[in-house]
Amino acid sequence: MSIPGKSRYVIVGAGIHGLSTAWKLSELLSASGKGSGKDILVIDKSHIAAGASGIACGVIRNNYFQPAMRELMAHSVDVWETDPEAFHYHPVGYMQISHEGMHEDIASIYEQQKAIGYESDFIEGKSQCTDYMKGLFSDWRAEGITSVLHEKRGGYANNKASIAGLAEKARALGVQIETGVSVTGFKGANGSSSAITAVKTDQGSIECEEVVIAAGPWVKTLWDMMELPSEVSIKSADGSMHEGIPTWRYWCLQEGVLGVDPDLQ
Ligand SMILES: Cc1cc2nc3c(=O)[nH]c(=O)nc-3n(C[C@H](O)[C@H](O)[C@H](O)COP(=O)(O)OP(=O)(O)OC[C@H]3O[C@@H](n4cnc5c(N)ncnc54)[C@H](O)[C@@H]3O)c2cc1C
Repeated sequence: MSIPGKSRYVIVGAGIHGLSTAWKLSELLSASGKGSGKDILVIDKSHIAAGASGIACGVIRNNYFQPAMRELMAHSVDVWETDPEAFHYHPVGYMQISHEGMHEDIASIYEQQKAIGYESDFIEGKSQCTDYMKGLFSDWRAEGITSVLHEKRGGYANNKASIAGLAEKARALGVQIETGVSVTGFKGANGSSSAITAVKTDQGSIECEEVVIAAGPWVKTLWDMMELPSEVSIKSADGSMHEGIPTWRYWCLQEGVLGVDPDLQ
């Protein structure tokens, strides 16, 4: 395999983030007359969808608790809807079916969805929920349900096929994707600038103007290669500072780990 010695943009990681970035960056470069997908190289140490993107459950929803996620998720769903066939996306909607302990939180998600015009129904009360669910599934039998949030958009996608579809979108615009290429380090500019001027790989160096790190769970390795801070200071809600907290801490599973003691945390 031969990789180019030079590319204006190098994107590390051929998962959903790296390939989405390649696709959208190509469109922006072409639209602005500043270049095209041919200026972009995506490299991955394994293959397309080798990381989290290839094992994700594929659920597409606007149901994350943090309010800041609401518009971002609505935007993401817009993107999935642009080409369901290419993305192997099945827009069947999404339901959050909950017991009373979650009622208040789910109600707030519903309010946020309503505020941005993201279509959903919120059903409250035990008998109302049972009636609603039986209207959809005549054999519905679950008990103790007091709220149902039914998102009319979203659904699921077939993980590996989706990412392959995304890779095709990028390739069609001229992006080069090279797999089996591992990033081993970075070369910085001489002098006072800390800007990266080349990406070092196990197949040789690639000179570049910009690097996008989309390495998913491997980010700490790349972070360390860039000699970025290994510790951060965190302020608690009560205003007290905690110094020397590791920037990245892995709690549980990484590739190759098959069993974890349930008492670990
Ligand atoms: C079990 C599971 C289920 C999930 N379910 C869902 C879900 O239902 N819905 C949802 O929205 N999200 C889900 N997620 C989260 C989602 O999968 C991730 O947020 C997303 O896939 C991250 O994508 P990424 O492109 O950032 O990283 P990844 O897909 O992990 O891609 C990173 C890539 O970087 C490459 N790489 C790493 N180091 C190097 C190096 N040194 N040189 C070159 N290449 C390198 C890797 O090979 C990999 O291909 C799930 C995650 C997991 C683990």
